[in-house]
Amino acid sequence: MEECTFCKIVKGEIPSSKVYEDDQILAFNDINPAAPIHVLVIPKKHIKSLIELTPDDELLIGKIYTVINKIAEKLNFKDSGFRVIVNCGKDAGQEVEHLHFHVLAGAKFGDKIV
Ligand code: 5GP
Ligand code: ZN
Repeated sequence: MEECTFCKIVKGEIPSSKVYEDDQILAFNDINPAAPIHVLVIPKKHIKSLIELTPDDELLIGKIYTVINKIAEKLNFKDSGFRVIVNCGKDAGQEVEHLHFHVLAGAKFGDKIV
């Protein structure tokens, strides 16, 4: 089976501009940024989307949020604020089928959907 783009990034087969890495989680700059700061935070393990999560993933997903806070500190947008977006499935326009958290910062975001 052809491996997904983000699994290839985890393996280093596709280069990325890394922001954070540990044994379970990787964060890198989005190749097509939608904000001055646009980081993608992913589990290294291949999970297709949010809807595929199981109770076994609960600790991992919790950890992703504390990693996001570490990135906010490191990249200096802790105080100015940021937005986290997860697209899940067709109607949300998910393009890469490997769970990822978009972290957007460095601008004031006007359009609030929720
Ligand atoms: P989605 O639409 O699936 O929520 O978001 C996928 C995101 O992955 C997009 O913002 C896109 O720019 C980013 N992306 C796709 N391929 C690559 C890649 O090879 N490298 C990086 N750094 N980002 C990618
Ligand atoms: Zn993958």
